[in-house]
Amino acid sequence: MNIVDKFFRRINRLRISVTDLCNLRCVYCRPESGLPLIEHSNILTYEEIVTVVRHAVKLGIKSFRLTGGEPLARRNIEQLLLMLGDINHVEDLAVTTNGIYLKNYVQIMKKTGKYRLNISLDSLNAAKFERITRGGKLGDVLEGIESVLDLGFKNTKINVVAMKGINDDEFEVFARLTMDKSLEVRFIEYMAMNKETMVDQDKFIPMSDIVDMINRDNELIALPPPELGSGAAKTYKIKGARGTLGFVSAVSQPFCGSCNRLRLTSDGKLRACLLSGGEVDLRLILRNNPTEEQLTDAFYRAANLKPSAHAGKGHAVMHQVGG
Ligand code: SAM
Repeated sequence: MNIVDKFFRRINRLRISVTDLCNLRCVYCRPESGLPLIEHSNILTYEEIVTVVRHAVKLGIKSFRLTGGEPLARRNIEQLLLMLGDINHVEDLAVTTNGIYLKNYVQIMKKTGKYRLNISLDSLNAAKFERITRGGKLGDVLEGIESVLDLGFKNTKINVVAMKGINDDEFEVFARLTMDKSLEVRFIEYMAMNKETMVDQDKFIPMSDIVDMINRDNELIALPPPELGSGAAKTYKIKGARGTLGFVSAVSQPFCGSCNRLRLTSDGKLRACLLSGGEVDLRLILRNNPTEEQLTDAFYRAANLKPSAHAGKGHAVMHQVGG
């Protein structure tokens, strides 16, 4: 069985926010004072997440990503990592993490043989990293990345949110990491979010400018889109490099036309889109002894809510929906 939405997009990916909690307060994502938290009883249990994933697999969804908040900050997350790693026909399990706790979980993830990692890292300068994340220690993330590389994970990505006047002096250094490391450095356009998170639009840099900046002193070779993936990033390689570069232009060139995902929030809402559309209260269904048909219906209803394209910048709440 497959899910196809109103605009003939085949839905085959699910992004799961496992917690709204985060151990960092990145300036573009959360206010310094933190956010009101979702009551714990409203957060999906690991068993409920596993029920959703098992059902999604039956509907042709084979690719899953854990995000948050910070997924590795949820208590006993190793249990969920193992439970998901055990589900048949799950082809692709990815985790988006800030990397602070990563080294504690790489062995478990490696053991299942199914995980790949996207690690967010906006600066390689310890003081600047601490300012952007409001207190994070760069050394923890670098240790995490080293252990991922040592253990030979495939398709590891470093996500860099590009911010004018903040980390644009480091784009070249980030790009050159790919010369001898087997990973993809992905530059992500900065999105204007909720007012409270102090985002100001003049930090925005269009992806085309970043490509030009890196192209100035490096020979970039364009690569074909990967087989597995939503085509969100344009990928390149610096001539002679081991790794690759990705450019995600969600703002200047939205990729809604090829969007093939649904999102599950930590409190169990199945959402059509990060920025617009609507949601289905899957938690309510999960907690009322659902039949297979009711679960299937929830997925179809959420897919039907997917807009052809999102409404623009909007007031997304990345930390709640899960970036
Ligand atoms: N805590 C995890 C992490 O840091 O990767 C997962 C959640 S975080 C919300 C997911 C991604 O969203 C991170 O790569 C983060 O940099 C990105 N993000 C958050 N706010 C953003 C914004 N305003 N513009 C662009 N990317 C943003």
